Amino acid sequence: MKIGVLGGGLSGISLAYFLQNKQGINCIEILEKEREPGGLCRSFNLNGLSYDIGPHIIFSKDNEILDLMINLLGENKNKFKRSNKIYYKKSFIKYPFENELSALSEADREYCLNTFLNNPYENSVAENMLQYFLKTFGEGITNIYLKPYNEKIWKFDLSFMDTQMIERIPKPPREDIINSASGIPTEGYLHQIYFYYPQQGGINSLIKSFINQFNKKVIITADSNVVELQRIKNKWKIKTDKGASGEYDLIVSTIPVQSLAGIYKSDIPKEIIESIIDLKYSSIIITIINVKKDNLGSNFSVMVPDKDIIFHRVSKLNFLGDCYGAKDGSNTLLVEITYAKDSLLEKMSNSDVEKKIIEGLEDTKFIDNREQINFMETRRFEYAYIIYDLHHKKNMNLIRNYFDNQGISLCGRFGEFEYLNMDAVIRHAKNLSEEIEK
Ligand SMILES: Cc1cc2nc3c(=O)[nH]c(=O)nc-3n(C[C@H](O)[C@H](O)[C@H](O)COP(=O)(O)OP(=O)(O)OC[C@H]3O[C@@H](n4cnc5c(N)ncnc54)[C@H](O)[C@@H]3O)c2cc1C
Repeated sequence: MKIGVLGGGLSGISLAYFLQNKQGINCIEILEKEREPGGLCRSFNLNGLSYDIGPHIIFSKDNEILDLMINLLGENKNKFKRSNKIYYKKSFIKYPFENELSALSEADREYCLNTFLNNPYENSVAENMLQYFLKTFGEGITNIYLKPYNEKIWKFDLSFMDTQMIERIPKPPREDIINSASGIPTEGYLHQIYFYYPQQGGINSLIKSFINQFNKKVIITADSNVVELQRIKNKWKIKTDKGASGEYDLIVSTIPVQSLAGIYKSDIPKEIIESIIDLKYSSIIITIINVKKDNLGSNFSVMVPDKDIIFHRVSKLNFLGDCYGAKDGSNTLLVEITYAKDSLLEKMSNSDVEKKIIEGLEDTKFIDNREQINFMETRRFEYAYIIYDLHHKKNMNLIRNYFDNQGISLCGRFGEFEYLNMDAVIRHAKNLSEEIEK
């Protein structure tokens, strides 16, 4: 059997890794439109400094997949303890926010503590993200941090988002919140407290480690945008923008479902097209900035809920090791900004975005002034975050059923249109490889 995999991101690459030793599979061809495989797990290099599309840290509750990732990296990895902060009213509050309420002003602290302990929403049924935050954390923590930060990152009204993703967030124990308000240290989100990161080469090293394990059955055809997919009798035919065409017994698509619908030569029913058009996602701008000096101390990522500042997160790459941040004693920051389709941000030029970033860095005092900047570079990526709006579940059930019935398997973050981190992407690829073997 010859399998065609559309897209050479982490899902396509890890799927090929799992499939290569399965019985009855002679060839797996990965077709990737970019020159390098990796998708969102690509890393770039600016003046010797590697950076990702937002630092991609390796963590998981899924021990089998976590072990696989760290074993594949071999010696090329370091383990870190989280050191993230939230920048609120000129102070740095430890992340997660509810674990260091003592760092707030007295008025904000009392507001958060009292509305958590005496929460009128506690027994209500949460039907959307905003209601879930109110029910789980109370009005203070929601209004001060969760609502503005989440609105900033999703660029979407939280009342129109469902709870699929956040219902995994546990309700913090009462004692933790009482302790946190009185200055006794507590920790939240324990599954992410430690994480791994490649010693060099950025997260793309993980992709390279998978590829290093490929046997001769796996072919990566890069720089090949798939422009047509058609079923003729019991074979699948693919055409790429290079004019090449191939024939396959089975197709797995890891490319965004919107792109799949665009290349699939078939009469896709109107209700499926409408569901695909109704899917919501956000895009991302990332800017790497090398500075002579910053004021972020030994922190890694700093979340910024303040909507007057253009970026929602700044990460100090020095935290990950010298080869990511320091060049002749300098420091390197990676700034992230999400944007929605047709928004003003989407239309802003990169140089205008960079001006706003510099203003934001000065206003927050993350840098003393713009003279500290040595060099910077900005990149944009259309498909970054899935938005779980209220129609997502219904839409994806229809879409998935349709492609299943057509014999096309969907896999990966934008392939399945689910909020999947690297570990979940690899888990889904492994599960799919087992289904294919049957
Ligand atoms: C800002 C950000 C930060 C993140 N941080 C973390 C983190 O810290 N930890 C973590 O575990 N996960 C993180 N993730 C998630 C992680 O990036 C994804 O789970 C993973 O990279 C998804 O891989 P994928 O292969 O499913 O999708 P993609 O990486 O999107 O791969 C799809 C591939 O298909 C290709 N393609 C598209 N159209 C075509 C076509 N027509 N023909 C051929 N090829 C095509 C694309 O070029 C791409 O290579 C983060 C994601 C983002 C956006």
